[in-house]
Amino acid sequence: MQLTVTSREKTQLLDITAQIQEHIRMQGIASGICHVFVPHTTAAVTINENADPAVPADMLRVLNKIIPWDMDYRHLEGNSAAHMKSTLVGASLTIAIDNDRLVLGTWQGIFFCEFDGPRTRQVLIRCIRDE
Ligand code: ZN
Repeated sequence: MQLTVTSREKTQLLDITAQIQEHIRMQGIASGICHVFVPHTTAAVTINENADPAVPADMLRVLNKIIPWDMDYRHLEGNSAAHMKSTLVGASLTIAIDNDRLVLGTWQGIFFCEFDGPRTRQVLIRCIRDE
């Protein structure tokens, strides 16, 4: 399954937990494994707190501070910072499914991470049912 995500900012974290959960419900997967993959070199996926919006905002502030947009980068496209952030955060997640639901902690949510927006992006979701 392919999820389309549209970012509105240069760097932005978008909560995609509900869309992935809905896919699992529609597929009727009671238990198994859910793999989430971002097929982009300037985006990523991560799990963190989705209760307080200050948490994703702080994550972006820290990432933007430790990986500045302007530096002595070699990549001529001019978006090296986005490539670095993508590798640092990572392109995939694997999450267990139990009782028709993603096994996440109370405060955990799945975030698509945009590092070179605004753009329309894809997130690939593949679930494997337990035998
Ligand atoms: Zn590039």
